[in-house]
This record gives sequence, structure tokens and C-alpha cells, in this order.
Amino acid sequence: MSLDRRDFMKLTAAGIMIAAFPGCASSSGELVRKKAQRVVIVGGGFGGATAAKYIRMWSNNKIEVVLVERNTKFVSCPMSNTVLGGSRTIGDLTRNYDTLNSKYDIIIVNGEVTAVDPQKQTVMLANGHLSYDRLVIAPGVDFMFDQIEGLSADISANSIPHAWKAGGQTVLLRKQLESMRDGGIFAISVPKMPYRCPPGPYERACQVAYYLKSSKPKSKVLILDANPDVVSKKGLFNAAWKDLYPGMVEYHADAAVKKVDAAGKVATTDFEDVKVDVLNVIPPMKAGAVAGMAGVVGTDNRWCPVDFLSYESTLQKNIHVIGDSVSAALPKSGHMATSQAKICAAAIIELMGGGQPDPDPAIANTCYSMVSGSEAMHVANVYRFDKEKKAMISAPGGGVSDSRSEVEGTLAGYWLENILNDVLL
Ligand SMILES: Cc1cc2nc3c(=O)[nH]c(=O)nc-3n(C[C@H](O)[C@H](O)[C@H](O)COP(=O)(O)OP(=O)(O)OC[C@H]3O[C@@H](n4cnc5c(N)ncnc54)[C@H](O)[C@@H]3O)c2cc1C
Repeated sequence: MSLDRRDFMKLTAAGIMIAAFPGCASSSGELVRKKAQRVVIVGGGFGGATAAKYIRMWSNNKIEVVLVERNTKFVSCPMSNTVLGGSRTIGDLTRNYDTLNSKYDIIIVNGEVTAVDPQKQTVMLANGHLSYDRLVIAPGVDFMFDQIEGLSADISANSIPHAWKAGGQTVLLRKQLESMRDGGIFAISVPKMPYRCPPGPYERACQVAYYLKSSKPKSKVLILDANPDVVSKKGLFNAAWKDLYPGMVEYHADAAVKKVDAAGKVATTDFEDVKVDVLNVIPPMKAGAVAGMAGVVGTDNRWCPVDFLSYESTLQKNIHVIGDSVSAALPKSGHMATSQAKICAAAIIELMGGGQPDPDPAIANTCYSMVSGSEAMHVANVYRFDKEKKAMISAPGGGVSDSRSEVEGTLAGYWLENILNDVLL
């Protein structure tokens, strides 16, 4: 027996997530009976959840949407550095998916996609499969642990957290800071661009320094950056380190961490072995693994090339990719993922109705960085489609704040609430 939507609503109303019913797939293996033209979305993060909501809304509920997400809760990476600084808890950043189901009738499957068959147009889960007319892949990033000798997913989870997906590792890193001696060294390694949230590591250095300044003032924050310089809001971060945390933050350029010793807490670059107390290694990143399963990863073996009018993969028909996994000279941010999701949603509705996507899309991105408990600064840009380059190009007029301020700190909080409401409510 497979479930139709009414059965599914009963199950979710009873608090039973769909992945929890082994053996519920039909004899054909279909997990949820398909009743209309269907879009399956893999990944319920910033990009995927937004695409799900907007496809339902803008198609007047005509297109069936199934959202597959491995986690039961949505935890926001934006502002998760403030958990390390101590001004927020991970609970403050955690939301549920209930409204997407109850208000928009999105079918939410709590499970892991383990394979994709672009020919049969199906995605596979442990208990069966879901067929689609169009598939949206929005898996965020995965980490290239093998690029750093001595590092693994296990070591990240238990002793050298990256905390670059908000959740358990963010809490672990905060606990490590709380246990650190006064006079200890916290080191953060920044991977080479492109990576998720370019200003994020520098914001994190500020948040850790903010905590240490009040609790362990003899301590140091060491930034080991694989890039030749600070890659985002450089002047503003340099000023924050100098003014707010004098003598506490030390920045090393061209200092890619190549090797770690988890037991001894040693990070090795081409130039030095650094022994520290708390080690936060953010590994290089690539598109989430499901992109590889779908055959949409480009020749760089990392990111997914797309047509920027529809976010349809240039490698597989009827499969779209949005968010961090996309290959583009665009910032990998939550705001950008939601902007791409809306263009993709509108294009899918057009394409499924026999129309064509908007030939002249424009999208926006804003990213705040909290540099203390109350002060922030931002970068904001508009990107327009360039017909000749077939790419999204930054339009004139964007840029960064003149200086950090408490007003921007307040606006950053509003930005977070607004975007979470846009994605999930
Ligand atoms: C510390 C930090 C601070 C940040 N601050 C900001 C900020 O201030 N502003 C901003 O705009 N951005 C910020 N970002 C970046 C932002 O979090 C990401 O760019 C954004 O989450 C990307 O959205 P996405 O939809 O591509 O991926 P995600 O939001 O990561 O969503 C991907 C989802 O797919 C799911 N998934 C993956 N594979 C599968 C599978 N096989 N089966 C089922 N589910 C799967 C995952 O569980 C996940 O929920 C920050 C990031 C970090 C780490």
C-alpha cells in the first residue's frame, strides 16, 4: 500500500514522520502515490524549503511538492556563530517544518536520498522511491575531509568540529571554549574560496574573541587562512579585531591547514606546526553528495553548472540545482539560496505549464556579520542576468557598510527573523 496525501496528513498530524513506516511503499516501491504533476525537492534547507513553498504558492497548489529532508528540524547556520559568542543558543535558531505541511500541503518526507535515477525520474530512499516530473537538488555542501591529513568526519564530529552545519558541532565547539584555560589558543582554519558563507569564519573569530575577552582575557584567537587575504568585508573585520579585541586576534594569510593531530591538537601548514587548545578546522567543500548521485556535478568534481534562467542542470534534463551546490561566482549564502529558489520555482511553474522562464532575472543577497554581542556590519548586492556571459553579474550600487554599528546589529536580528519566516512560514 502506498499513501495518498490524506493518509499522509493523518500520519503527520499524529506526529509520525513518513520515514518511520518501513514497508509502506506500494508494490511498485512508490512511497507516496503521485496524484498530479510532481516536483521532488531533496534538501529542506534555505534553498529547498523556499522552493517547496513558492512552487506550491505560485502554482495555486496545482503542482504536487514532495520535500525530502534527513533532519527533523531546521537549524539556521546564519547567526550560529553567536552561539559561540554566547548571545544566542542553538534552540533560538531551531525551527520545525510543520507550517510547510499544514499551510501549503507540502508532503514532507523525513529521510535520506541514497540514489537518483535521471532516466526513470526517481529518487531512492531506504524504504522505497519517489517519482518526479522535475527534481530540485538543494543539498548544501559536503566536506572534503580527505584534503586534510588526519581529519575525518568522525574526528570532526568528536574532537575537531567544523561547526559549519549548525547543530551538534556548534554546541560541541562552544563547550570546548568553555572548558579552555585562560591563556589558551583557539585556532580557526579558513578553506580556500569558494566555500559556504565567505565572511563566516571572520565573524566566528570575532564571536570567539567576544566570549574570550570577558571570560578568559589572556587567550588568543588565531586565524589560519588558506586565502591570500581576508576574502570578505576586509577593512571592517580588520577594524573590529583592532578596536574591539586588541592583541587578541592574530591573522595568518596563505596558511592552509594540510594536516591535523587530533590527540595533540596540532595544526600543520606549509610553514608551521601550531599547537593549540581548541581547534576549529573548516575543511574545503563541494556540492552535497546527492548531486554526484544525480550526475549534475561539473568537470571540477565539486560544483554543479546550471542555466541561470531556470537553475536547470546543464548536464541532466528536468533536474534543477539551487543554493550552495551551484557552480557560480555568487556568494554561497542562505539569502542567495532563497533568491535562487524563487527564480527556480517560477521557472519550473512556467516550464511545467508549457511556458518559458523569465529571460531577465535579478536576485539579491545581503549578509550581516555580528562582530560582538550587539554590533554588526553587512554586505549587500543585486545580481542581474548577463545574456552574453550567461551568468549572474553584480549590478552597480552594492557594497559593504561604512562601519559596524549597534543599529546594524538590531537589523541583523530582524533580517534573520524575516528570512526564517520567508523560508518556513
Ligand atoms: C557559521 C555560518 C554562518 C552563516 N551566516 C550566514 C548569514 O549571515 N547569511 C546568509 O545568508 N548565509 C549565511 N550562512 C550560509 C548559509 O547557511 C548557507 O549558504 C545556506 O544554508 C545554503 O542553503 P542550501 O539550501 O544550499 O543548503 P542548506 O541550508 O545546508 O540545506 C541543505 C539541506 O539538505 C539536506 N540534505 C542534504 N543531502 C540530503 C540527502 N541526501 N537526503 C536528504 N536531505 C539531504 C541537509 O540535511 C540540509 O538540511 C552561514 C553559514 C555558516 C556555516
